[in-house]
Amino acid sequence: MRIAIVSDVHANLAALEAVLRHAEAAGPIDGVWCLGDTVGYGPQPSQCVARLREAHVLAVAGNHDRAATGMMGTEEFNADAATAALWTRGHLEDAAAYLDALPEVTQDPQREFTLVHGTLRWPLWEYLYSYEAARAHLDRQETLFSLVGHTHVPTLVAGGAEFEHGCEMYYLEDGQSVPLPDDRKIVLNPGGVGQPRDGDPRAAYAIYDTEARTVTVHRVEYDIGATQALMEAAGLPRRLIDRLAVGR
Ligand code: ZN
Repeated sequence: MRIAIVSDVHANLAALEAVLRHAEAAGPIDGVWCLGDTVGYGPQPSQCVARLREAHVLAVAGNHDRAATGMMGTEEFNADAATAALWTRGHLEDAAAYLDALPEVTQDPQREFTLVHGTLRWPLWEYLYSYEAARAHLDRQETLFSLVGHTHVPTLVAGGAEFEHGCEMYYLEDGQSVPLPDDRKIVLNPGGVGQPRDGDPRAAYAIYDTEARTVTVHRVEYDIGATQALMEAAGLPRRLIDRLAVGR
């Protein structure tokens, strides 16, 4: 089986469609797992939720999903993110109830992977950037593998006593395959579909091949200008529009 792993779609339907097309071009997709922030920032929140639900997605909630429905306030957001969250709130249509029902943490049916947006210490908010955060996350990880989003940067964290910090972190390039180990915990971040932040504006996602036992990161070009035009028409903040072109 091949599972598409997506995160941080951020209401960018052009990017989501491009990623799903790319995944299906190499063979049938048997499932989609989503690590949160399906909405927020971008111009097509209800359409992105509908597209993922159509694919019977297994998903968790992100901070932007919670803020968009009003389940959580926007006090922790910067001004642009708060503006976008309030705009999103008015454009969710029937996606709100679905987003509110998403869990903060879930596991895949085989109980091999734990899915969470931030970290297992602070599921909605914590960025897995530091060794300290990675260790705190790994300590709470009950499955061998976990999948996180939130940073919008494709990353591998490998746990192991032989590492100086109890774990090591690696950036994952386009096309890089991670073989799933059977003797150590790992954390994978597929990068962001709808708002990459590693300086590469192409949409990022990963494919889990259950037979090969690998997770492979891919970068996919999409029509950035189309999403930007929709954001402009919606009156979304300039900085959010501009950042898509530079991947920051
Ligand atoms: Zn995000």
